[in-house]
Amino acid sequence: MAEEKKKESKKTKRIKKSAFYKVEEDKIVRDHKCCPKCGSGVFLASHKDRYTCGKCQYTEWKK
Ligand SMILES: [Zn+2]
Repeated sequence: MAEEKKKESKKTKRIKKSAFYKVEEDKIVRDHKCCPKCGSGVFLASHKDRYTCGKCQYTEWKK
């Protein structure tokens, strides 16, 4: 009597979240703009709708 045992393999679908984060991080890094007033050494802080310079308070609005 061969009883077929159907093994239900519980496959957990793992979405590689890290990959998404990597892309996002890359995006953020690439998004960094330099302050036109302070020079290329100073990056503008990226905000929701604008970039701001921490040194001279230069603000560049995102379009
Ligand atoms: Zn600046």
